[in-house]
Parts: sequence; structure tokens; C-alpha cells
Amino acid sequence: GFIKVIDENNEEINAFIELNYENALKQAEAIDEKIANGEEVGALAGLVFGIKANINVEDLIISAASKTLEDYIGSYNATVVEEILSEDGIIIGILNMDEFAAGSSTETSYYGPTQNPAAMGRIPGGSSGGCAAAIAAEMCDISIGSDTGGSIRNPASHCGVVGFKPTYGAVSRQGLLDLSMSLDQIGPLANDVSGIALALNTIAKYDETECTTLDWEKPDFTEILGETSLEGMKIAVCQEFIDVTDDEINKTVNKAIQKLVDAGAELVEVSFDYIDLCLPTYYLINYVEFFSATRKYDGRDYGSRIEEVCGDEVLRRIKIGSHIAEAEFSGKYYKQALKARSVIRNEITKMLENVDLIVGPTVPKLPHEIGAELEPMEMYAYDVLTVIANLAGIPAASIPAGEVDGIPVGLQIQAKPLDDEKIIKAMSVFE
Ligand code: GLN
Repeated sequence: GFIKVIDENNEEINAFIELNYENALKQAEAIDEKIANGEEVGALAGLVFGIKANINVEDLIISAASKTLEDYIGSYNATVVEEILSEDGIIIGILNMDEFAAGSSTETSYYGPTQNPAAMGRIPGGSSGGCAAAIAAEMCDISIGSDTGGSIRNPASHCGVVGFKPTYGAVSRQGLLDLSMSLDQIGPLANDVSGIALALNTIAKYDETECTTLDWEKPDFTEILGETSLEGMKIAVCQEFIDVTDDEINKTVNKAIQKLVDAGAELVEVSFDYIDLCLPTYYLINYVEFFSATRKYDGRDYGSRIEEVCGDEVLRRIKIGSHIAEAEFSGKYYKQALKARSVIRNEITKMLENVDLIVGPTVPKLPHEIGAELEPMEMYAYDVLTVIANLAGIPAASIPAGEVDGIPVGLQIQAKPLDDEKIIKAMSVFE
């Protein structure tokens, strides 16, 4: 079924940049055989996955949508890929993204932009634009993306699908090409909450090969599905998040919040004094960590020297990141950014001491038309509400709230570290 949809529509949508039909069909046959023999099959049997182009899958081209890595063939499976395969999930192909995940529109890909299937002609958001577009266009059941400052939630919001960034450390990053390693987190996108729950059950796992993963008592996320009462749950709206967001988006998001209240949640108002600090702090840390991550692309291992073949945004981050990293500057900027990060984290932690969830818009504005050529600051402005969860290390998701002018907008739900299941519970109300 999916093969037909992809063959008919991928040329126009450009969600997949590499297809894995032969292996996928082999996997499907192996599962059928298991069933025919009465053998037990994995929890993901029959579900079809797409994987973002910055997560290693053996024998497929894992380019991070960059010319730098156009010939790089995954030599191993990332931990999440290994887990998916071991539960009989089928991998159908590799998905488009912004080059090295540095962007919010999927326009910086070496393979060209991806269309937003829910609003043709507009960007799907980014950087996991291919992941969200593939789900919106029904080209696979579940996609696996990465979120450094919103890259799962932002495209989920723009394309009208569900996207989940787990608690930092809940899912192994082993096998992910870093953008900014203290912020990066792998997570799923799907058309419904049950797809998200199934994927999390498989990929949220302690990994002894990855030192930032957490050894935690994981719930069965699928058990929470079907929940319709939020009695006893406190949810917070934050005026400062509303202030930076377009009115029409706020209206749509408020209606979605009302559904949570109708289900029994108690609504409270909170305030956050550091909204203006979020983007500068995020981008400073991102630039420095990205610069250091790219030093391995010096032409020796991967053929191309990154500075010679990458696009403008990646080059900007490398150049500015290298300046900031230089000794005489480091005390001035990077250390300040780390201080600002802990101020933001503490403030969010304090906010979450008194409530279960923070709810509000995922993205403050609607997606622009492909090719509009935004200034960097305009592009970064998309991220103001999503970077907070990465800076604080908390779980956060986006679920469709409704539409503005026929374009989807998302409701963002954030929780305390390792309270991922509370987000699933709240999202269940929408199913
Ligand atoms: N748009 C943000 C950036 O450019 C977030 C990207 C991401 O989450 N990978 O860094």
C-alpha cells in the first residue's frame, strides 16, 4: 500500500530521499512467514517506518541532506533502528531534512525542499520536514526524527501530525549525527497517539553504549491510551508564550486547550520572565556544539571538506561557532550561554513543580511559502517556543489543534523530565 502512495506522490512531495523497498519487502515476507509458522512476532510487526537522514541505517546513504556526506553509506544501525528492527518494524526509506538538521523549513537540503502535504506550496517546517510530510501524505505509519530545538514538533505542527520529543536521555542518541549534542533527542512522528506510544515503547530504552541515556522505570505507553479523564491534572498556560504568537493561532490553540479542560484538567496561569533569552541562548550553544561536531568532516574520512560544499546556514554556524569557541571569546559568550541555560532550566523546573503540564502553541507563526528567502533571524523566530524544552531537557510534544486559513497548527504539551507518559495521557483526549 505505502509503496504505491510513495511511487505516486514522492516526486512531488520529496519526503523520501532514498527508498529501501527491496529490504522492506524481505522484512515483510519474514514476518509473514513467522505468522504462518505460528511464531511470535514483535510489537511493531507490520508497521512501516521512515527514518530521518541523520540516523544511521546500515547500507543506506545517511547524508544528513548534505553534499558533504552524499556518498556516506551507513556502516551500522543506530540503536533506535536496531530496536525497531528487532520488534519487526519495517524500514521503507530515508527522509529529507534541513542540511545537518540546522533549520526550520527543510529548504536547505542538498536534495531540494519538501512540500507540506497539508498546505501545498508551503514549507513543511523543519528540520524533520520529510518525517512530517511522509506521515501527512500517508507514505508510512511512523517516522523517526531528531529534535534539537523543535525539529520534530515544528514540522508536526505545520503538517498536522503528532510529534514527540522525549525527555533528554530517554532515547539513545547512538548513531545520530549530532547537531548539538547536549540538546539533540530522537523521537517519533505519527498520525495518531497510538503510533507514538508504540514507537516509544520500543525506542525509549537505556543504552549502555550511550552515556547520556537514563536508566529509568519505563511505563507501557500503550496502556495510557484510551484515557478520557484528566481529573486531578493541573495544566498551565503561559502569557509570554501567547504574546509572541499570532492571534489566529492562539484562538485555535485555545480551543484545543479547552478540550483538556472539558476532560477534567484544571487550568492555571503561569509566567515566564526569560522568553527573550531563549533564542540567543539556544543558538549560541548550538553554534559552538555544531562547530565542534563538524571538525570530523575535514575531508579525510568522508571525502568532502564540509566548509567547501555545505550550504549558507551550515557555513554560518561553523564560522560563527569557531569564533565563539576561540579561547578569548569563550568566557564571554559560551559560558554566559550556559549560565543563561541554567536560569531558563531552573525557571521551567519551578513552573513544573506546581503543575503537571505546560500547554500552548507549538510554533508562533504559520509556515511560509517555499523559496521565500527569510533572513536568519526570521527563520530562528519559528523556534522560540520549542527551544525551551531542549534547553530544559524536558519532554514535549505537538498534536494537531486545528487550522488557521486551512493550514494546520499544533498544540504543544510539555512536562517534567520522565513524565513523558503524562503527555501521552493528555494527547489521548484528542483521539
Ligand atoms: N530550527 C532549529 C535550528 O535550526 C532547530 C533544529 C533542530 O531541532 N534540529 O537549530
